[in-house]
Amino acid sequence: MKIRSATRYLNDWSGSQTLLNAQLKLFTLMLAANVVKGGIYLYDAMTRYNGDGSGRAIRLMVSSMLIILVLRRFPKILKWGIHYAVIATIAHVYYRTFNRSVGLDVVTLQAIIMVIISAFYGLGKLWGTIYTIIAAAASIAVHFISFRFTGLHPLPQNLNDIYIVVNWLVILFSHIYFHGVLYGNLRASKTLSLQLAEAAQAKTNFLSTMSHELRTPLNSVIGIAGLLISDEANAKQKEQLDVLKFSAEGLLTLINDILDINKLDAGKLELESTPFSLDLLLNGIAQGMEFKAHEKGLKFKSDVDASLKNKTFQGDPARLGQILYNLVGNAVKFTEKGEVTLKVELLKAEKLTHQMRFRVTDTGIGISPEQQKLIFEPFQQATASTTRKFGGTGLGLAIVKQLAEMFGSQIQLESELGVGTSFYFDLSLEQVEQQAPTTLSTATTPTEKNLSGLRILLAEDNMMNIYFMKQLFKRWDITADIAENGAEVLELLDQKDYDLVLMDMHMPVMDGMQATQKIRQMIDPAKANIYIIALTASVSDQIQKRVINCGMNDYLHKPFQLEELRAKLEERADRS
Ligand code: ADP
Repeated sequence: MKIRSATRYLNDWSGSQTLLNAQLKLFTLMLAANVVKGGIYLYDAMTRYNGDGSGRAIRLMVSSMLIILVLRRFPKILKWGIHYAVIATIAHVYYRTFNRSVGLDVVTLQAIIMVIISAFYGLGKLWGTIYTIIAAAASIAVHFISFRFTGLHPLPQNLNDIYIVVNWLVILFSHIYFHGVLYGNLRASKTLSLQLAEAAQAKTNFLSTMSHELRTPLNSVIGIAGLLISDEANAKQKEQLDVLKFSAEGLLTLINDILDINKLDAGKLELESTPFSLDLLLNGIAQGMEFKAHEKGLKFKSDVDASLKNKTFQGDPARLGQILYNLVGNAVKFTEKGEVTLKVELLKAEKLTHQMRFRVTDTGIGISPEQQKLIFEPFQQATASTTRKFGGTGLGLAIVKQLAEMFGSQIQLESELGVGTSFYFDLSLEQVEQQAPTTLSTATTPTEKNLSGLRILLAEDNMMNIYFMKQLFKRWDITADIAENGAEVLELLDQKDYDLVLMDMHMPVMDGMQATQKIRQMIDPAKANIYIIALTASVSDQIQKRVINCGMNDYLHKPFQLEELRAKLEERADRS
């Protein structure tokens, strides 16, 4: 809606159209003034000089009227008309300046001013400068050249005054026109930039909402595929379910990538700053990727400088991990045989600041020099056949590049076709004394504890997700009650005791946040303090803060891995 109205506005509004109108108006005004001025001369010639000089006056009037008529018919020749009028006015300036009976009087100076106005406003900077210099030169040249004309009758005082007033009026109106155009255009461009900013915001919001809406159904697709795979499916069904789960997870990665690039473009992505263990991060990546590399028959090597081990650094492990996952993922994807290496070397250590180089090398297909310039642009892939053969969207490296820039670094690339590729970037990380969390996520590895005693209240309005969660709870031997909105949560909580609420955030009637605030105000302290885990498809970086601020205890992103939820439930089962 906003985008359409901005485009329409762009089409309607055209600064050059308004400028052309003002030029036409100005020029017509000047010509009309010439008719009046010719009339004054004609009157003077007839009344005082028996018609002597009337020919020149009539020529001025007729030619000005003719040009007005021609211009109305063919406005395109305006530029030529202005050139002609400016040259004629300059000739007039010289004629008066070198005339014995007039010279450099007020009218001559007014003519010079009119040359400047028409040349600059009508013809632009270059012609404006040229014509101004020529017209102004008359006022200097007259002191050096003694030659003078005769034959121009000076007007009597009263007619001369009228002539001067007409000229001042032309000068005044030309400024009024162009001032209007200038400020009108400034106002219009301000409105336009506001509308464009709104359009960009609308695009960001649309993408965020759309991605959010897509994540919700994906939760049940990925979840149920996961459930079916671990059911007693036969080999063929398992294979098909693997494809289903793989595709759904690919779709999720794509949605997350679109969200990330959208946030990066809108300048809304912020890096976190928390203590983290580099070892743990690199091990996690190595473990995940080693498996993928081995599946393809590739060797995977992780080579981390010994002096970086067992240290805690301050930074954003999730985003650093995202960069490395992308680079290693690509290396595995574009390599058919040989090996993929993830190397971290220490370049310099000064006190607590450690400068290190992360390098991902493969022995894959390589990237040609021309393609190297393109691949960091969003939606760009090396060749069209890349998409056919390897899939992908071309968003990964665009995100990697911008994320690296947020870390204050630059992604570098060395590659040779058919030999392999090496991506690297340097980072400066501060070592901190504080102990980093021993796991990357709060979820611990599930241990198949018995969860049957856990009394869960699930708040969820999406039927597919309810179905999926019911299947999951059945498998885990949990009996759960379902509330389809916040108001039902309060009702059920009032009637029965629970150990835990799994709370969807977006629900009709009363959303998860409102419901939580109301729960926290309940009179019975056991109910008011019930443990609440938010289930959210929200993609905001602030979600953790918002969830905690409104009184919830923990959260899970939809779509979540079954193990993640299981781990959180086991933790609660231990405590209840
Ligand atoms: P995607 O992998 O989704 O296509 P990327 O932005 O991650 O998008 O990569 C863009 C393109 O860069 C890829 O399509 C591929 O052509 C090329 N590319 C990236 N990494 C490598 C690599 N390690 N070896 C060869 N080509 C690569």
